[in-house]
Amino acid sequence: MKSSILIIYTGGTIGMKEDPAEGTLKPFDFSQILEEVPELGKFAVKIDSYTFDPLIDSSDVEPSLWVSLATLIRDRYEDYDGFVILHGTDTMAYSASTLSFMLDGLSKPVVFTGSQLPIGVPRTDGKENLIGAVEIASAKDADGHPRVPEVCIFFDSKLLRGNRSTKYSAEAFNAFVSPNCPPLAEAGIQIRYNTDLIRKPVYWDVQLRAQTHLDTRVSILKVHPGMTAQVMRSVLIESPTRACIIETYGSGNAISKDWFLDIVREADRSGKILLNVTQCKAGTVNMDLYATGATLKHCGVLSGADITTEAALGKLFCLMGRSDNNQWVKTMLEKDLCGEISK
Ligand code: ASP
Repeated sequence: MKSSILIIYTGGTIGMKEDPAEGTLKPFDFSQILEEVPELGKFAVKIDSYTFDPLIDSSDVEPSLWVSLATLIRDRYEDYDGFVILHGTDTMAYSASTLSFMLDGLSKPVVFTGSQLPIGVPRTDGKENLIGAVEIASAKDADGHPRVPEVCIFFDSKLLRGNRSTKYSAEAFNAFVSPNCPPLAEAGIQIRYNTDLIRKPVYWDVQLRAQTHLDTRVSILKVHPGMTAQVMRSVLIESPTRACIIETYGSGNAISKDWFLDIVREADRSGKILLNVTQCKAGTVNMDLYATGATLKHCGVLSGADITTEAALGKLFCLMGRSDNNQWVKTMLEKDLCGEISK
């Protein structure tokens, strides 16, 4: 039977055209995208589309868009074999990460893609990205199950796990990397699937649940030389948040001065959830390696292991949206929920 795919168009460069009056890129409608990619008609796939209104530059993405996306996928879940989401690259890793936590019990592909050059320009990467994403979202294995029942990003011939991805280049076609997790698939003459890595649901016929309540009371503190106690206090203590992602150096190290540790202890005592995420793109937090990391651990900071900041944010939004119990959230943060950390 013919596969059917829903392409969800949220905006982004892939569907933008130059506005001659202002000289800036603005979104155009989905039918024009399809006109630019007649190759999609050659697939034995039924393609429907859903266009968000308004179309946005993904720099304007808000958690409400994720709620709309998760709700749409849940409501149309039984009608399609897979979903392709056209999205701007700037926040694609955030959206893919958060959706992976929101779509509980997912057993179908949800493939994000976009492009660095608009689809209408001659050297666009948008065509290859869109065609590859549709092919992957509709691919089935020998048993008739979807080959990649995960939230992922297809970009520049690589399929990356959504919650492991991060935007790496503002210019190159390989805009995304996933340093702590190899690609789930690579497109050459054929699409080669890294079958051992791809997560499979325990039961294929399980009901999809969309978690639509997100608690967004999270701040991010990027530790840097010269950071002052005043700045740190405003982010960690004075902001009305429930959790703070502390972006540390290397394997989870930070300033070892008393003023820094005192503020961390104060935040912990006030009940805040503190998560240590490394500023490095590759590798993991290991708070047992250096004295500075060990001190943070003793001040109540949890290890984010090799999670990305994007995934940490989405994971916190979802877990805190599910429960008011910070102890439960802390326990769940250290577990691998959908492939976002290496265990
Ligand atoms: N600013 C654009 C966006 O994220 C960039 C892109 O799509 O590549 O929507």
